[in-house]
Amino acid sequence: MRIAILALQGAFAEHARMMQKIGAETFEVRQAADWEQPKDGLIIPGGESTVMLKLLHELNLFEPIKRDIEQGLPVYGTCAGLILLSKEVDNANSSYDRLATMNIHTCRNAYGRQMGSFATTAPMKGIAEPVPMTFIRAPYIESAGEGVEILAEVDGHIVAAQQGNQFVTAFHPELGQDTRVHEYFSHLVSSSASH
Ligand code: GLN
Repeated sequence: MRIAILALQGAFAEHARMMQKIGAETFEVRQAADWEQPKDGLIIPGGESTVMLKLLHELNLFEPIKRDIEQGLPVYGTCAGLILLSKEVDNANSSYDRLATMNIHTCRNAYGRQMGSFATTAPMKGIAEPVPMTFIRAPYIESAGEGVEILAEVDGHIVAAQQGNQFVTAFHPELGQDTRVHEYFSHLVSSSASH
């Protein structure tokens, strides 16, 4: 399994480390030529969605990535990555088009400044025992539309969801030691490859 990691900004190295730990091969996507490499899936890391979006457009990565996701390439978006995949975003604060491939309405910087960063443990569908969840100036999903399965909620807010081959978490599993969320994504990638 070969996973592209969007490496323009943010916590991309941590995702690569997690995927390698569970036996996947990874490569970094920094420019349009990188995107032409063979891949079975993509991770869009956390970071700053406004910066990532600007770079995606300026580096001509936006169109090819959006097209491949629309054609079924499995994608995992964490935090800022979740924002980029959301059809609707409150407080988006960017004039650039988002990838907007996932039928979710997201509230950016949803927890406010005080509550921006916190850690908790909560159950997630598809994973047997509760999952440690680290939130950093996190968004949450306000509402999920057709075709979206809600996988986890914290304090009544949706923090993990899936729509077909698209998977998102508002929290950062790449910052801990627990590989189960990355394993969840790798199962999604392998089941999509067998179709
Ligand atoms: N607040 C950031 C944004 O709007 C997301 C934070 C994160 O990815 N950790 O992009």
